[in-house]
Amino acid sequence: MSPNIRVRFAPSPTGYLHVGGLRTALYNYLFAKHNGGKFVLRIEDTDQARRVEGAVENLISTLDWAGVRFDEGPGREGGYGPYVQSQRLDIYRQHADDLIKKGFAYRCFCTPERLEEVRARQNAAKLSTSYDRHCRNLTAEEVERRLSAGERNVIRMKVPLEGELTFNDLIRGTVTIAFEVLDDQVIIKSDGFPTYHLAVVVDDHLMAISHVIRGEEWLPSTPKHILLYKFFGWELPKFAHLPLLLNPDKSKLSKRQGDVAVEDYRAKGYFKEAIVNFVAFLGWNPGDEREIFSLEELVKEFSLERVGKSGAVFNVEKLNWLNFEYLKRMPEGDVLTQLKAELARSPHAEKSFDDVYLLSVIRALRERSTFMRDFVEKGEYFFQRPDQYDPEVLKKRWKPESAGQLKSLSAAFERLQNPRKEEFEAALHQTAESLKVKNSDLIHPLRLAVTGVGSGPGLYDILVVLGRDEVVHRINLALEKLQ
Ligand code: GLU
Repeated sequence: MSPNIRVRFAPSPTGYLHVGGLRTALYNYLFAKHNGGKFVLRIEDTDQARRVEGAVENLISTLDWAGVRFDEGPGREGGYGPYVQSQRLDIYRQHADDLIKKGFAYRCFCTPERLEEVRARQNAAKLSTSYDRHCRNLTAEEVERRLSAGERNVIRMKVPLEGELTFNDLIRGTVTIAFEVLDDQVIIKSDGFPTYHLAVVVDDHLMAISHVIRGEEWLPSTPKHILLYKFFGWELPKFAHLPLLLNPDKSKLSKRQGDVAVEDYRAKGYFKEAIVNFVAFLGWNPGDEREIFSLEELVKEFSLERVGKSGAVFNVEKLNWLNFEYLKRMPEGDVLTQLKAELARSPHAEKSFDDVYLLSVIRALRERSTFMRDFVEKGEYFFQRPDQYDPEVLKKRWKPESAGQLKSLSAAFERLQNPRKEEFEAALHQTAESLKVKNSDLIHPLRLAVTGVGSGPGLYDILVVLGRDEVVHRINLALEKLQ
């Protein structure tokens, strides 16, 4: 256990927390907690054009909701702040100036028009497009002259012209890249804001980050970052790039094929425990058959060694299954609390049901429910009398003689005192016998009369939940309506 483990989640506040972002945050959190380290939240908001009002608050509240709590970050000072990049602009400028002084960076005065021309020429010649290093060797005097003339400029890093760089990634293994494929990356833009590349390196160093754990899409940028560490003379953190998230058709996970915002899943009624469990398995597995893990168990078991290289498929069926499993395991009292909240949002908000009744509904329906709303939607008949009867079931199950048979059945039920399942069942069997019909001739019309639909939990379970008087009342109601 190293006390010096410090990791960070460094989102750009674009308005919502992407499930991929939650995965990155979660893995960082699990790694930190497993190793007794610190988990830092840093807001990377240097791209002013992409700023969204309220995005940071939303991000923080979604992370906290999921239980992925950061130790340090905006509003949780830890001695390494500020944790918002737009509040650290002077730091980046000083560091860029430092690189110029050391000869590792230079001012570039090329206009956007010139850059466009260069690009067009490279495209026409079918070359890969990159900056042609036009300003790389300007004399100090010329730079001075153009700066005093107030010419717009950016600062670029001076990538070595030859050689290669090799680094180790804890997930991908050894990665080697030739300098010739790297551009002289802009590190300070003409508006004085740093680019991601400079800011991320400066902050990871100054915030004493020991492990950079982030999505694979940042792997190609890592050589530039490593070069910057070398320019500054800083010790490298360890890098771990997490596998891509894929749609079931193996394309990159995108909004077009479904929801990607954590809050959308939350709004759909997924439990945070199921979401966290699901997201944990997008790239990691415990190495055995177990699939249900609480956050605490994940902390205990998580290691980067068990994170795979290949893309992780986002399979919503699996998430549904987990939600079902979590609902099945939830303490009854918690289900009750959630059911009451669900009812309060439903058309039945004005009605009152006592806890004993709601608990009996929960016992009847839980095994068939994935979401809390299933209790209210699939079990609607527990909260109101049917006002219509499924026409398909009616056609199939309701015979001309059904009305008379149900009348006998309701009379038999009326003679029962506080019936349990067994008594309801025995009364139905006796009625069928005396009418010389099959049990099923009574069962199907009875279910339709009492619930309005053709499927659901065991019929006798439903009868017990509703109670004798209500059952008799509903049979009579159906007889009236279906005459
Ligand atoms: N700001 C980057 C993002 O939005 C962070 C990448 C990193 O973790 O270095 O994903």
